[in-house]
Amino acid sequence: MSPEARTQHLLELGDFQCVWCGYDLTRTNARPVRELLVPKVKGGPTRLENEVASCSSCNQKRGHSTSPSQYVEECRNERGLSPNAKLVADQLDALDAAIQRDGGMRKIRDYVTREAKRVRGLVID
Ligand SMILES: [Zn+2]
Repeated sequence: MSPEARTQHLLELGDFQCVWCGYDLTRTNARPVRELLVPKVKGGPTRLENEVASCSSCNQKRGHSTSPSQYVEECRNERGLSPNAKLVADQLDALDAAIQRDGGMRKIRDYVTREAKRVRGLVID
């Protein structure tokens, strides 16, 4: 899959909104980025299940050390935003399933399972 196709797939998955702040990523001044839910420095793989579309501003604010569940809470409590926790939980569940299926990624296996549960608990119906 080309980088452009990956971005398009992730944009559709997130209804063309930033996963964290809801910014409309179809606007001409939007600079959507493919963000890794489990950061690369934590051993997060570059695969679709570990990616969401976000605006470059949120991507930069999050940095490389905040876990997905921490950042959902930070967006809500400190930035007054309504992050798409359901999408984050769905992606982490898909990543968890991919790890169970394909094996490997031992370094992040428990982390992903734990984070998937945590973020699922943060989903507001
Ligand atoms: Zn954003």
